[in-house]
Amino acid sequence: MSIVPEGDGRPDAAEGGRYARAPMLSVDQAMLVITAGLPPMPPSPPDEVALQQALGRVLARDIVSPIDVPAHDNAAMDGYAFAAGALATANPLRIVGTAWAGRPWPGHAAAGQAVRVMTGAVMPAGTDTVVPQEHVLREDETIRLATRLEPGENRRLRGEDLARGRVMLAGGRRLRSADLGLLASVGCATVPARPRLRVACLSTGSELRSPGDTLGPGEIFDSNRFTLQAMLAQLGVEIIDFGVVPDDPDRLEAVLRDAASQTDALISSGGVSVGEADFTRAIMARLGEVDFRMVAMRPGRPLAFGRIGAAAYFGLPGNPVAVMVTFLFLVRPALLRLMGAREPAPIALRARSREVMRKKPGRTEYQRAILMPDDQGELWVRTTGSQGSGVLRSMSEANAIAVLAHAQGPVAIGDPVSCVLLDAFV
Ligand code: AMP
Ligand code: MG
Repeated sequence: MSIVPEGDGRPDAAEGGRYARAPMLSVDQAMLVITAGLPPMPPSPPDEVALQQALGRVLARDIVSPIDVPAHDNAAMDGYAFAAGALATANPLRIVGTAWAGRPWPGHAAAGQAVRVMTGAVMPAGTDTVVPQEHVLREDETIRLATRLEPGENRRLRGEDLARGRVMLAGGRRLRSADLGLLASVGCATVPARPRLRVACLSTGSELRSPGDTLGPGEIFDSNRFTLQAMLAQLGVEIIDFGVVPDDPDRLEAVLRDAASQTDALISSGGVSVGEADFTRAIMARLGEVDFRMVAMRPGRPLAFGRIGAAAYFGLPGNPVAVMVTFLFLVRPALLRLMGAREPAPIALRARSREVMRKKPGRTEYQRAILMPDDQGELWVRTTGSQGSGVLRSMSEANAIAVLAHAQGPVAIGDPVSCVLLDAFV
């Protein structure tokens, strides 16, 4: 059990030791300290990755479009292409040919002539406008327009989507589905991507067994490695699983040393609460520069961060919900930086509270929440009930995290609350 007492946001003498006497950091300060201590990005050459494998990879440099997209002015509708300027003197128009997508009409349309065009067909020479087929009266080989059209209507211009020579995707972008289509549309078969970050993951605690094992008295199943690895997988990093390590200083030291030597970042859970920190701290003192800090957040609070060898280290609390929250709000942004990814934080949505939420100013609280629009489309939020930091079920039921800001006090019914959808952390 964690023995971290619920304080009032100030370091509490009862917690004892250097750990508790260090000034408590706000979440924003913690983020700055973490960022300042991050090792530089590994300077490895980029991987050239096939498009089909590139989802979620981080672009190593800007990508400049090698061509115009579309490459030609083309028809946006099935219909008839003609020169709008000549229309005043000639309606009906005589149909003189047909152009398909991928099969241009080789001629030149004169005044009074129209060319049948399919969507995507190159605009025939001499034409600038397309009338949709449902807006004409067709009689044998002539058409009469049943509608007025502005010059250039239903025509897509060359380079309208992407202009040759322009940056189409900036370095640091984490590639999404639309980006892959965009890259394909300019003919890129591979992209230069930053090498994947290698991240070690381990759970500490003598009470932990892996799913599939049999539990002895007082033992519990390790769930943290599974939530952590799933969240890491969504970040697209390479995960190296170091399993469960008992609370044995020599074993833990050996595993951390080994993990740090082969990875860019290390994430452990457990062993940083006040009752266990001295034990872990002694190991860290031998291995690297690691700071044990109290962060004014709930859940979360005790955290260790720094470096072991050349690897960034994040020591998260053991409680399963605290692990997820500290990962999403502190570790994930740090890993994105290490990956060279440049992207804004997930967007916070404003919802009105369905219930009273207790909250003390002086710490950031992350409440598991359900965000739902009402019949008018207005967003409302309620919590998933018990916010105990070991209650993983309520995290599973939540679709969002309500973030109650550091300085904020209690929330009344109807008050605005800032929420981040869990689906935003992909
Ligand atoms: P600790 O931070 O190590 O004191 O752990 C705090 C609480 O979280 C204790 O009740 C632990 O048993 C529990 N816990 C620690 N690690 C895990 C884990 N990997 N999976 C599930 N529960 C854990
Ligand atoms: Mg423990």
